[in-house]
Amino acid sequence: MIPYGRQWITDEDVAAVAAALRDELITLGPKVDAFEQNVAVYCGARYAVAANSATSSLHLACLALGVGPGDFVWTVPNTFVASANCALYCGATVDFVDIDPLTHLLSIPSLEEKLLEADKSGKLPKVLIPVHFSGKSCDMRSISKLAEKYGFRVIEDASHAIGAKYEGAEVGNCAYSDITVFSFHPVKIVTAGEGGMALTNEVALFERMRRLRTHGITRDKCAFENAEREEWSYEQHELGFNYRITDFQAALGISQFNRLDDLVRTRNQIASYYSAEFASLEVLLPEVEEGHYSAWHLYVIGIIAPGTDRKRAYYEYRKQGVGVQVHYIPVHYQPYYAKLGFRKGMFPGAETYYERALTLPLYPLMSDTEINQVVDTTRRLFG
Ligand SMILES: *Cc1c(COP(=O)(O)O)cnc(C)c1O
Repeated sequence: MIPYGRQWITDEDVAAVAAALRDELITLGPKVDAFEQNVAVYCGARYAVAANSATSSLHLACLALGVGPGDFVWTVPNTFVASANCALYCGATVDFVDIDPLTHLLSIPSLEEKLLEADKSGKLPKVLIPVHFSGKSCDMRSISKLAEKYGFRVIEDASHAIGAKYEGAEVGNCAYSDITVFSFHPVKIVTAGEGGMALTNEVALFERMRRLRTHGITRDKCAFENAEREEWSYEQHELGFNYRITDFQAALGISQFNRLDDLVRTRNQIASYYSAEFASLEVLLPEVEEGHYSAWHLYVIGIIAPGTDRKRAYYEYRKQGVGVQVHYIPVHYQPYYAKLGFRKGMFPGAETYYERALTLPLYPLMSDTEINQVVDTTRRLFG
């Protein structure tokens, strides 16, 4: 079965990890610093904090922005549960902004409407977490204008979008947000085995995320509250976590990140090939709007042919050895979220999208034979 995505580990990657394992420090050492530095410089952000997953990075980002009980955090239903869970970890209340079923991204009109209502009822969000679904940035310019008008902060969940561009600049530069988060899970664009990173241009957010990554402990003597300032001294100032990442993971991340542009270019080539081959078929194709360069984490088609629903298409593809997937079951459908009061019908954009959505295999290591197997199966189903 051709999977919908998979990692590409080279001999160079293996050698980098092996070398890092022989270093003196194998966790939170110089490789982690270098990984952070490389990603920050590439993206054009001032600071970066690596962690053991993007879920941890999202949690650190929420905490650094002061999210806590009584606060509202909004995200979209068309995402992985982690985009919403991070706010619940902080004791905040989660709500969702609907998506545009055609762009698959946060709908600006829905956001505007929801903000107007929230303003009247005094329930404005503290933080909005737009998700750059499939590798394409949300309309960050509009989002940041609304953030300024209504006074909320913005965390970009760019788990799908490292290597993507918006308005000609790298996603991750935080030009229109407070913090941007990347994931290095094996199925994403570049991997560290597991891992995440939070980028920001604000030194206070950077320092707070770093402190919270290691239990809320500081070793900066200037910041100490107690009088004792010995060489062994450290102080815990708030309740943090152990979200450290190892140096051998960072070594893998660095090695993979060196190939980022090539990996994203190959993803773009496969996506363009699919779209050209599918142009005359009865399926909705994913669009990349003007001003966007997608990292193409996912290639999602919409099943609209009469007599073929998504469920049937899913099993047909799989019978042919094409491991299609579905991204995402709307978060508010999850039993855990239903218990918080969410119901079907609340976010029709995400729900309509979900009914039709099917993710086709797309990853740089795909052979021409595999790519053509996806194309041929799609033509047979919808030609
Ligand atoms: C993968 C993913 C995450 C979580 O990433 P981890 O590194 O696995 O914790 C969060 N948000 C989105 C949109 C994702 O796709």
